[in-house]
Amino acid sequence: MIRYEHHYYGGTWQKPSTNDTIEVISSATEEAIGLVPRGSVDDVDRAVRAARHAFDTQWSLTTADERATWLEKLAGAMKARVPQVAEAISHEVGTAIGFATKVQVEFPLSMIALNGKFLREYTFEEELGNSLVIKEPIGVVGCITPWNYPLHQIVAKIAPALAAGCTVVLKPAELAPLSALMLADAAHEIGLPAGVLNVVCGSGRVVGEAIVGHPDVDAVSFTGSLTAGRRVASLAGEGIKKVTLELGGKSAFVVLDDAPFDKAIPAGVNNCMQNSGQTCSAWTRMLVPRARQAEVVDLAKAQLAKLTLGDPFDAKTRLGPLASANQRDTVLSYIEKGKSEGAELVAGGDRPRTMPKGFYVEPTIFADVDNRMEVAQEEIFGPVLTIIPYDTEADAIRLANDSIYGLAGGVWGGTPERALQVARRLRTGQVDVNGGRFNHLAPFGGYKKSGIGRELGPLALDEFFQLKAIQR
Ligand code: NAD
Repeated sequence: MIRYEHHYYGGTWQKPSTNDTIEVISSATEEAIGLVPRGSVDDVDRAVRAARHAFDTQWSLTTADERATWLEKLAGAMKARVPQVAEAISHEVGTAIGFATKVQVEFPLSMIALNGKFLREYTFEEELGNSLVIKEPIGVVGCITPWNYPLHQIVAKIAPALAAGCTVVLKPAELAPLSALMLADAAHEIGLPAGVLNVVCGSGRVVGEAIVGHPDVDAVSFTGSLTAGRRVASLAGEGIKKVTLELGGKSAFVVLDDAPFDKAIPAGVNNCMQNSGQTCSAWTRMLVPRARQAEVVDLAKAQLAKLTLGDPFDAKTRLGPLASANQRDTVLSYIEKGKSEGAELVAGGDRPRTMPKGFYVEPTIFADVDNRMEVAQEEIFGPVLTIIPYDTEADAIRLANDSIYGLAGGVWGGTPERALQVARRLRTGQVDVNGGRFNHLAPFGGYKKSGIGRELGPLALDEFFQLKAIQR
């Protein structure tokens, strides 16, 4: 049992203002594996004051080089914690341990250090006519994160925010708070100046809203659902605060008629099922030429059969359980909805009988899906792929864009030129063409209701600056 009895702010572990706690449940065993404090408005107030003081008197006055060195030290201190963090995340989210180690932990740690590099190469000042235009850190940033890639989402915010010279008050997700506290442990160990990184655990309604609404919080960076994002944006709007929103997705993978189906279809299935479908950018809609749908279904089912479902701590497992009973039930209810809407269930569709414990759902494929169905429009956030037939290339582009979301997507065509042409027409923040790999330098974020602003890569720093023009 991992116990954290305190919040972390002002450079020390601080006694919570109430005795309320949050139990952290293992998604595989359904047993409690951790306990963290459930914060209050008072805890937030103290943490924000610590962050304000640190910003005004210390962190905003440091040089870029000093901050880069701190980020590198933080990444170094986290390195020793990789197995511990990966194990916690596998329990919390259900991520298979190999994937958790590489993608949930090692990748974000490399991003912390990389932000130091971006910072060292960053141009903070520019002459424009008779003006000197200076980029200055925006101030105290409230960071609110979801549970699906808990450390990654935290790092995507705090690394560029700290790099820019901002101080941070972080509220991790209730379902997966442990990596945030392990990060605070590491910050404490290296002696990161007091008040620079502050962590208060708790609910969105209480702690999250108190952070967003606090008069001393200058900007908010939020990742989570559209519903919570709307609330955060309106609260931030009341306070005239800059807000970055990374919200949901229902991304399309367009398979063109001249694509090599034997490569494209397995790649599409893997993308959709990654982290058991609990990925905001997952390609959950596979758009395929109508005449070849039967062939696609066979290839997709064959690929699905290779993705072993099981205990996230077994090295053979590719798909673990979902993060919570709630998440499992939501996904199962969407599967029922798909059946009642007339989509053809071609694989999965239930809880696996072989797994009496744990929040498992069989990886599921629906074929012959109409893009207007709820299973094609709403973010399910589980292992559910919808195969949607199209008639012409123009039709495929129209269907891909017929979504309130626009976070990610893919196109696979017979030639890179044709695929690129289609990619240019998609109203979405990222598109991978013919198997293009994830690039940590590329900006990540959404069009439409997938959000406002960008994370990752050197451009992410810009979210945490404001501009001052000095005329001479
Ligand atoms: P969620 O919206 O329920 O919670 C996200 C965070 O917001 C949590 O810390 C929660 O406590 C907090 N929160 C909830 N209500 C709040 C409120 N009223 N005020 C302030 N904070 C509040 O989302 P979730 O279930 O944790 O995560 C899944 C969602 O996150 C999915 O929709 C997914 O697509 C999205 N997501 C998006 C990205 C991206 O980069 N675009 C990445 C990962 C996840």
